[in-house]
Amino acid sequence: MLDSWEDRFFGNTGELGMLREIVRRAAEERIAPLAATIDEQGVFDRDVEALCWDLGLMTMALPPEWDGLEQNQGTALCIAVEELAKHCASSALLPIIQAVACFPIVHGASMGLRGRMLSRIRDERALVAYLVTEPSGGSDVAAIQTKAARDGDEYVISGTKCFATNGGVASIFSVLARTSDEGGHNGLSFFVVEGDRPGISVGKSENKLGQRGSNTTDVALDQVRVPAENLLGEEGKGFKLAMRDFDMSRPAIGAQALGIAEGAFHAMVSYAMERRSFGVAIAEHQMIKAIIADAATAIEASRGLIYRAAKLYDQGMSSPKLASMAKCFASDSAMKITTDAVQVLGGYGYTKDYPVERMFRDAKLTQIFEGTNQILRLVIAREVLKEATLVGE
Ligand SMILES: Cc1cc2nc3c(=O)[nH]c(=O)nc-3n(C[C@H](O)[C@H](O)[C@H](O)COP(=O)(O)OP(=O)(O)OC[C@H]3O[C@@H](n4cnc5c(N)ncnc54)[C@H](O)[C@@H]3O)c2cc1C
Repeated sequence: MLDSWEDRFFGNTGELGMLREIVRRAAEERIAPLAATIDEQGVFDRDVEALCWDLGLMTMALPPEWDGLEQNQGTALCIAVEELAKHCASSALLPIIQAVACFPIVHGASMGLRGRMLSRIRDERALVAYLVTEPSGGSDVAAIQTKAARDGDEYVISGTKCFATNGGVASIFSVLARTSDEGGHNGLSFFVVEGDRPGISVGKSENKLGQRGSNTTDVALDQVRVPAENLLGEEGKGFKLAMRDFDMSRPAIGAQALGIAEGAFHAMVSYAMERRSFGVAIAEHQMIKAIIADAATAIEASRGLIYRAAKLYDQGMSSPKLASMAKCFASDSAMKITTDAVQVLGGYGYTKDYPVERMFRDAKLTQIFEGTNQILRLVIAREVLKEATLVGE
C-alpha cells in the first residue's frame, strides 16, 4: 500500500519514519524510567546526553560532512524532540539547544573556522550553549549590553549572560554582543567563544520550576579575547542570524510542547477510562469527554502547524509567521492540556505518583523561551498586517 500524504507529512514513513521509531523506542525504554528522578534531583543527566549523541540527535542540524542530515533537518529535529518530550521534556531540550547554538556557527563561520568548530563538536561531543539573554532583559534583544570591541586581530568581549541552557556543561558558546552603539539591532554581532578562554566564568545554576534536568546558568565574560575570525557572519548582522535561527527553533519548541501535551493526554485518557465515579468510568461523564475532545483537537492542530512550519524551513521558504504560530499555539495548548490532565486525575494528579504534575510544570517554560508568547503574538500580528498591506496595494 502507498504511504498516505498524511504519514509522509508528519514524518511517519521512510527515513523520517525510521528516525521517529528509533527515538520513540529509546525514549520509552531508556529515558522514561529516568524522567521522574531527573526532575526530582534537578541534575543534568550525562547518560541521557550520551544516548542523544549515540542516536545522532546532537549533530542532526550540522552539514552532512559533520554527521548532519542531508535534508529535512527541521522536520527531523521536531520528530526527535516530540518523541523525547512525551516522556522527558528536559531530555528533549538537549537536541534543540545544540541545534540552536550551532546555527550561527554553521551559517556564519568562515570555512576554516567552521571546519575546526564542527569537527570539535562532532569528534569531542562538545555541547554548545547559546548566550543571548542578559539580566536586564531577554525580549528586547536590541538592548543587549555585552560589548565586543575590536583590538587589532582580536575582539575583546565583556558582559554577563543569563538563563544559558547548558551554560555549565558546554565547552563552546555562541555569543551575541554589541559591536556598535548605533543602530539597535544593527549593532549586534555573533561570536563563537571557546569555553577555555581566560575571562569566562559560569555563575549560579537556576533552581527551576520545570525542565529541571536541563542545566541553566549565568555566564560572565570578562575581557575575553577571541581572534577576529571568531566573528560569525558580518559585523552588525548578528540579529538577522538570530532571526533565521528562530525559523528552525520555534517549531522545535512547538514540538517539545506537543510531546509534553501528548504525554499528559495519554496519562489523562488512560486514567479516565479506569477511574470510576457514580458507578461509571469518569470518561463517561460529559464534562470529562469535553476535556478529552478539546485536548485531542488542540494536539492535532499543534501538529499541523509545527510540521508545516518545519517543512517550509526545510524547503528554504521559512515563514516567521508560521514558526511563531506553531510555537505559540502548541505551548499555550500544552499548558491547557497539562492543567486539564492534573484536573482529570483529581487529587492523584497533584501528587508525584503520576507524571502529569511534572508535565504541567515542564509545559510552562515552552510559553517563555525562544520568544515569549507575547512577543510571538507581536511577530504574528506584524506579519499578518504586512501581508494585509501588500494585498491592499
Ligand atoms: C529555563 C530557561 C532556559 C533558557 N534558555 C536560554 C538560552 O539557552 N539562551 C538564551 O539566550 N536565553 C535563554 N532563556 C531566556 C529566555 O529566552 C527569556 O527568559 C525570554 O526571552 C524572556 O526574557 P526575560 O525573561 O528577560 O523577560 P522580559 O523580556 O523581561 O519580559 C517579562 C514579561 O514582559 C513581557 N513583555 C516584554 N516585552 C513585551 C512587549 N513588547 N509586549 C508585551 N509583553 C512584553 C514578556 O512577554 C514577559 O511576560 C531561557 C530562559 C529560561 C527560563
